[in-house]
Amino acid sequence: MKIGAPKEILEGENRVAMTPASAKDLQKLGYECVIESGAGAKAGFADAMYEAAGVEVVKTAAALFKAADIVAKVRIPTDAELKRLRKDQTLITFFNPGANEEGLKLAAEKGASVIAMEMVPRISRAQKMDALSSMANIAGYRAVIEAGNNFGRFFTGQVTAAGKVPPAKVLIVGAGVAGLAAIGTSTSLGAITLAFDVRPEVAEQVESMGAEFVYLDFEEEQQDGAATGGYASVQSEEFRNAQLKKFRELAPEVDIVITTALIPNREAPELWTEDMVQAMKPGSVIVDLAAEKGGNCKLTVKDEKIVTENGVTIIGYTDFPSRMAAQASTLYATNIRHMMSDLTPEKDGVVNHDMEDDVIRSSTVTHQGEITFPPPPLKVQ
Ligand code: NAD
Repeated sequence: MKIGAPKEILEGENRVAMTPASAKDLQKLGYECVIESGAGAKAGFADAMYEAAGVEVVKTAAALFKAADIVAKVRIPTDAELKRLRKDQTLITFFNPGANEEGLKLAAEKGASVIAMEMVPRISRAQKMDALSSMANIAGYRAVIEAGNNFGRFFTGQVTAAGKVPPAKVLIVGAGVAGLAAIGTSTSLGAITLAFDVRPEVAEQVESMGAEFVYLDFEEEQQDGAATGGYASVQSEEFRNAQLKKFRELAPEVDIVITTALIPNREAPELWTEDMVQAMKPGSVIVDLAAEKGGNCKLTVKDEKIVTENGVTIIGYTDFPSRMAAQASTLYATNIRHMMSDLTPEKDGVVNHDMEDDVIRSSTVTHQGEITFPPPPLKVQ
């Protein structure tokens, strides 16, 4: 069978779902590889590099969809792309199935199987295919770099002949995948780094990375997210008030705030309010990684950088992985290659779509003409 990657058509998307290196690995699974000309160019992978890796380069998206039995993409497919699908073809891509009813219908009508990469469950066995985590890791790193680029001072403290420079103080809200990457980047740049999460079990991890965990003055036991598979659930009003009180205390002290708080399938919780922004020093920077889902900061404007009247820069970009396209493509293509490896147990270049396999079942949103989303609960957590 052939696996292929078309050029991404969303404006500003620089990633590609297959790299020359991932193509070589896919060939070891028995597949032939094909790519649309120019698909890897914005990520630094020229057609000639694919050809050297044994990949066939075709001129158009139409030719790619025709040639490939399995199509690998990054962005949610457009209607035009879905209309190119055919019976028994497999599409592996981000799909946002919870808010893409039309896409699900179209793919099912075509008889294609769609594997939605955001549906890969966060269990140990599936980590190697967890594209949301790969991309969140990049976003966390890049958020700190972007903050530094917009911050007029050093991160690290210095003693120079021209005077003593205090270290920057960085607050990371949410210590999931993106938050931990941001913590690691911030501490390695030498900033005093504080981090808060509603899941107290991450405190140890935060502290082991050289950051300080922010504890609340809250009587009752903090919410334990472990029972929800590593994701947070909604907080009580009392807990939220204690959290906001703590953030109000911190707002005048911190130079940079990176917000990453997420509760699955909900709008982002609003945690950094207007009065907190107003209490920050001029020159401070907020990077709101939750901008896509409405933002953790009240004033965030999706996909824009704004500067408030009191001189605080607020960045709401939603394309951080695409801004590091070479790295993001390499990791994403590796996630896809691992998915293909599980779909090809015999390494014979033939897809074995085993709906009894927990990871494959959870990720499959259409199969054999049916919509198979949402999936049943996992058999093993
Ligand atoms: P995650 O689920 O691993 O982490 C989210 C963390 O937020 C969890 O640890 C959770 O406990 C915590 N949280 C939830 N409610 C909270 C609250 N009220 N206060 C403090 N912490 C709270 O998610 P992730 O994969 O790290 O992604 C984080 C965010 O980054 C998501 O919104 C995701 O969509 C976004 N993201 C943005 C970009 C971009 O380019 N802007 C790219 C990738 C991911």
